[in-house]
Amino acid sequence: MEAMAEKRILVVEDEPRIADVLERYLRAEGFATERAANGRRALELWRAFRPDLILLDLMLPEIDGLAVARTIRAQSDVPILMVTAKAEEVDRLVGLELGADDYITKPFSPREVVARVRAVLRRAGGAARPSRVYRAGAVEVDLDAFEARCGGERVPLSPTQLRLLAALVRAEGRALSRHELLDELGEPFVDARTVDAHVKNLRRRLGPCSGAIETVRGVGYRLRPV
Ligand code: CA
Repeated sequence: MEAMAEKRILVVEDEPRIADVLERYLRAEGFATERAANGRRALELWRAFRPDLILLDLMLPEIDGLAVARTIRAQSDVPILMVTAKAEEVDRLVGLELGADDYITKPFSPREVVARVRAVLRRAGGAARPSRVYRAGAVEVDLDAFEARCGGERVPLSPTQLRLLAALVRAEGRALSRHELLDELGEPFVDARTVDAHVKNLRRRLGPCSGAIETVRGVGYRLRPV
């Protein structure tokens, strides 16, 4: 059999005993794993570890699984396998506003989890996904790799800056209001002037491409190909 790239699984589970078992089974099956015991850590590791799949417990300290899933789903198509002790919540969770790919109810057998992980990875790998690379002149935003480029050179951006830039590129030259941009960032209730601060930082990071973001007086911002 040809060697397959090791798939990475992020196990988000606050009960150490359960997390131990899951990691042991997944590693025995050839997966690489990382563990987060709370929602905040889950988001950190999602960014740092770039998992191929997230096994996400619903009930978590600090930031619950639902909020974690929403945050991740706003920025990524990474498969999420939800783990919940509440069977009745499942309908509300799966596929709806959340975007989880599948779910498992507790108590579960670790073998079942591994089988489910494989099935979800297979589905995710098989489906042709729309490309999420957007271009406008020299500016390129790649939401799959989660990076931006200016004339082919990688520009280091924060997730907020990247999403802001992606929204402007997708608007294809149309001006977006500050409120529209906040909606894109998932922060609709924040002061609209926050956008100005984000744009200022974004321009600074963009270097030679900074002129691409044009201020439209009385409206907001638009991207002009440079
Ligand atoms: Ca829990």
